[in-house]
This record gives sequence, structure tokens and C-alpha cells, in this order.
Amino acid sequence: MQGARLHRLLWIRIGVNTGSIEKDILHKYGGPCAEGLVESALTHARMLEKVGFEDIVLSMKASDVRLTIETYQLAAKQCDYPLHVGVTEAGLPGQGTIKSAIGIGALLAQGIGNTIRVSLTGSPIPEGKAAWDILRALNLRTQGVQLVSCPTCGRTCIDVEGIAARVEQELSDITVPLKVAVMGCVVNGPGEAREADVGMAGGKKGGVIFVKGQEPIMVADNLADELIRVARRIAEEKAKG
Ligand code: SF4
Repeated sequence: MQGARLHRLLWIRIGVNTGSIEKDILHKYGGPCAEGLVESALTHARMLEKVGFEDIVLSMKASDVRLTIETYQLAAKQCDYPLHVGVTEAGLPGQGTIKSAIGIGALLAQGIGNTIRVSLTGSPIPEGKAAWDILRALNLRTQGVQLVSCPTCGRTCIDVEGIAARVEQELSDITVPLKVAVMGCVVNGPGEAREADVGMAGGKKGGVIFVKGQEPIMVADNLADELIRVARRIAEEKAKG
């Protein structure tokens, strides 16, 4: 990634977007485009360079996902300034989160981007959660619970959706990295459950709890309670190191 300078305490972020590109640049390229966004940002960067300031972060956002990706790819080729990545004005949390995950995620997966911002209409709380989820999905942040849960099918024996929601909610205070799997049957569930730090596979009567590296534990009832209890114990052990 760019940005060996980012550890410094004082830096200036230059932010341009498709609505703020200078008229002469817009005219040159015939409208908003990746080249225009990068040229606009670098023009401002050169102004700061001229007065001896080089601790600069560039942000060149568009609401269009493809344009966002193209722009940051181009910027990464043309300069080594740290890049603040995001899809601006992405919309309401449903569609906006998907657009942000695709745009930011595609760039981060290529090693492009040093800081990120999810821009959603409404409360800022879903923005922070979405940003964390994007980083967690790419294994760039591992703190907290990473939930694996199956999509359910005709084999499902338990309330996967309800248990997964409960696990996510009740273990949301855990800060150590912890992979928890909630799988709906003992046919295909054990494979994924075994790969997690702790996982469960639901059966017609009770189910099985898997703790990484240990023998499976048969549980007759209160499967979700047992999963949460074991997950907490493992998290505490991890926290102690
Ligand atoms: S783990 Fe079992 S219940 Fe879940 S989707 Fe796969 S086969 Fe269906």
C-alpha cells in the first residue's frame, strides 16, 4: 500500500469528487472521469508541495462504483501519496453498504487504500459497522467475532437465523479475534464448524459443538446457550494470551 508517511501526526487530506472537479479539467476530459479526478487532486497536491508540505492524503470520490475503482487504481499508479478510499453519497444503508463494500473492498483487495470511509444516508452508526465489516471480510481487521452461518436448506434442523443473530448480538462486546460458526445440520455443518474457533451443527435432537482442535461435544438441548458459553470461555482464554 501507499503511505509510508501516514504514521506522521499532521497531514492534510485533499478531497475532490465528481462535483468539485475544476471547469478546465472537466472541459479537457469532456466530463467527470478518473483522469480528471486524479488530475484535480494532484494539482492541489503540487500546490502544497511547492510550499514544502508533502504529508498529504488524497481522496477522489465518486458515487459511481466503477469510476471510484478506476480513479483510485489510476492514482495508485501516478503517485505514492496515501489514499483515503470511499464511495461517496452511496445512498441508504442497504444499497449503500453494498456499493461501499464493492468499491472499497475491490481496492483494498488490490492493496490500494490507507484509510476508508463508508458514506451512508442517515445515522453514522451503520457507517462504522459497515467499515469494520469490510475490513473484517478482507482479514485486514480481525478483532471481534467473525460469524459464519449457513444459508439454511431442506436439511436445516435448528433456527439458524435466530441463533446467528443472538450470537452476533450477545458476543458483540468481544474484542479478541474469534470465528464462530452456526450451521444448520450435521450433514454438511461439521466441516465449517470444525474450522471455526467454536462452531455448532444442529441436529434433530440437540446438536454438536466443535472447539478447534478438540473432540466434538454432543449437546442434547440449549445448543445456542452452550455455544455462547463456550465462545466466551475461549475469548477469555485468548484475551489472557
Ligand atoms: S449446513 Fe446443512 S442446513 Fe446449512 S445449508 Fe448446508 S446442508 Fe443446509
